[in-house]
Amino acid sequence: MLRVALTGGIATGKSYVRARIAARGVLTLDADAIVHRLFTGGSDVTAEVRRRFGTSVVRHDGAVDRQALGRIVFADASARRDLEAIGHVINFDPLEDIMSWEKFWVLLSSHKATLKALLMDQDFVAGIGNMYADEILFAAGLRYDRQSNSLSSQEVRRLYRSMVETLAEAVKRRGSSTAGDLNQDLFGVEGDYQDQHQAFDREGQACRRCRSTIVRVKSGGRSTFFCEHCQV
Ligand SMILES: [Zn+2]
Repeated sequence: MLRVALTGGIATGKSYVRARIAARGVLTLDADAIVHRLFTGGSDVTAEVRRRFGTSVVRHDGAVDRQALGRIVFADASARRDLEAIGHVINFDPLEDIMSWEKFWVLLSSHKATLKALLMDQDFVAGIGNMYADEILFAAGLRYDRQSNSLSSQEVRRLYRSMVETLAEAVKRRGSSTAGDLNQDLFGVEGDYQDQHQAFDREGQACRRCRSTIVRVKSGGRSTFFCEHCQV
């Protein structure tokens, strides 16, 4: 699977670049958000890091000792594996971390957020951008602004299945595009991909399921496309 991790300071255009890449069907990760979460004072992960490494990496005042971190990352393979294992608890990859829908339900309901915000939260689940979030929610028949802890068991199952199937389909399409050239792989599939959207970027067009009109709303600074009839 091709996945792009982005890093960069505030106001360097990272979100824009990420949105552009994600819109072309490539899974993206905000590497900075993960690192930030990793070392947010008082988080479970911070506590785990301290248990394993003492206060050499995360000091008593919560500051990260970059030299100590660098020594682990670049010079100590077994310590690095431990650090990665700790870090990996923070989110899951829908295609690699297969779980029961019951476990997914526990994860979902432990967050109080709207569905779309949660799907796009890299700390929760890896690799779902604006476009995928809309497509997954359309497939699941759920509105973007439903609270994540308000779903019935049937809705949780539908959401989980839609998430895995939508991402698997996206990976398959990229895989079948062309081989060799990275640019081809990144951008060569765009035309084909546009045709597959059920909701995303289809404002004013007929819903493929019920023929109602797909609408667009702005939420959290991003556009959301959905069918008011099919998504509840
Ligand atoms: Zn519809």
